[in-house]
Amino acid sequence: MRKIAIVGAGQSGLQLALALLARGYQVTLATNRDAEQIRTGKVMSSQCMFNASLQIERDLGLNWWEASCPPVEGIGLAVPHPDVPGRKLIDWSARLTHPAQSVDQRVKMSAWLEAVVERGADVRICDVGVPEMEELAKSHDLVLLAAGKGEIVNQLGRDAERSPFDKPQRALALTYVKGMTPSTPYSRVRFNLIPGVGEYFVFPALTTTGPCEIMVFEGIPGGPLDCWGNVKTPEQHLETSLAFLRQYLPWEAERCANVELTDPNGVLSGRFAPTVRNPYFRLPSGKTVFGMADAIVVNDPITGQGSNNAAKCTKVYLDAILERNSAAFSEDWMQQTFERYWSYAQAVVKWTNSMLTPPPPHILELLGAAGQFPSLASTIADGFDDPRMFSPWWFDPAACMALINEHAARAA
Ligand SMILES: Cc1cc2nc3c(=O)[nH]c(=O)nc-3n(C[C@H](O)[C@H](O)[C@H](O)COP(=O)(O)OP(=O)(O)OC[C@H]3O[C@@H](n4cnc5c(N)ncnc54)[C@H](O)[C@@H]3O)c2cc1C
Repeated sequence: MRKIAIVGAGQSGLQLALALLARGYQVTLATNRDAEQIRTGKVMSSQCMFNASLQIERDLGLNWWEASCPPVEGIGLAVPHPDVPGRKLIDWSARLTHPAQSVDQRVKMSAWLEAVVERGADVRICDVGVPEMEELAKSHDLVLLAAGKGEIVNQLGRDAERSPFDKPQRALALTYVKGMTPSTPYSRVRFNLIPGVGEYFVFPALTTTGPCEIMVFEGIPGGPLDCWGNVKTPEQHLETSLAFLRQYLPWEAERCANVELTDPNGVLSGRFAPTVRNPYFRLPSGKTVFGMADAIVVNDPITGQGSNNAAKCTKVYLDAILERNSAAFSEDWMQQTFERYWSYAQAVVKWTNSMLTPPPPHILELLGAAGQFPSLASTIADGFDDPRMFSPWWFDPAACMALINEHAARAA
């Protein structure tokens, strides 16, 4: 049977490893933290996954937390009124056709990694560099680099044409809490957009100690939400989160009267530049390493697409590996496989990048109109499950007006 090596035990690496093991492939998984270190380490993501991605996990029999994870039933948007403190200029929400879910990666990746070991993979805990990839390339038919935002993925080289930003566009922070007042009448991603400052969104999830809410902060660099540099302790991180909400989003602060951190590791801050990389690179020996998921297409978390992309990329790669039977995994095959994934991922990149620059007038009109026309709000909400749906109207003012008019007519 063919031997496949995967570097990285995240959403894509583990999902692919388990899928290949189930089909009798010999899998080597090299990653830099074992299951216990992942489980007891820091949070890594807010990892909200929408239905199409959850369905990929279901199809692979990997939806182990579906019954215990609280559902995310909708999407909402609020924009504070620029002139009236404490009031909202825009405020709407819509149910998703199918709920989303967020299982803390500490829970999911540690359990999946243990299953990879139990199911017979050769698991190596090490920091993988070029020498280790050379070793893997000698003894495997294919080496996949699924190392997310690890330094090693820079070996793939940035695709400048497909990467409009060369710097981080947001200062990011996560705060995992318990005790938040639930959203009624249904749970949702509550997305708050504060022009010139950044974004805050919050939704229910499952963490190591049970249900929680994840607060995600996206601060425009140099602005008031780029405020995590001097935070030294988890307690200060929580206080900084709450102080921001009290000042800018009082309706969100109200829900937080009784919150506490889920655990001292339930906080994170950092930043990175959204980047598209080349799909593969050659080792000094001439052997080729093929990148996947965040290693090749990493988006800002503002639209919550990275884990979804990782699941969808894995599906494309799995199908391509199975279709290949015993033929060599050539560079042509890698390029074609990447293009299959890119034919989907480019829509996510375009939409996500559009959220990082000030919204043009037609988007402000669209987001305002969604407050009047519920079917339009639903259309926007369901776009999170498949961002290809946003084209052309998200980007083209005339198509956007036509869409608004269509929903206005429906409402009338
Ligand atoms: C603040 C924040 C919020 C987010 N929120 C969401 C969200 O709501 N929804 C969503 O869909 N996505 C979200 N994401 C993105 C999502 O977490 C990632 O896109 C997803 O985890 C990518 O999967 P992956 O398999 O490519 O990489 P990862 O899951 O990052 O896995 C990479 C693996 O490689 C290992 N590794 C790295 N370097 C090495 C090395 N040199 N040697 C060995 N192993 C190595 C790591 O330890 C890890 O196991 C968010 C990200 C951030 C930062």
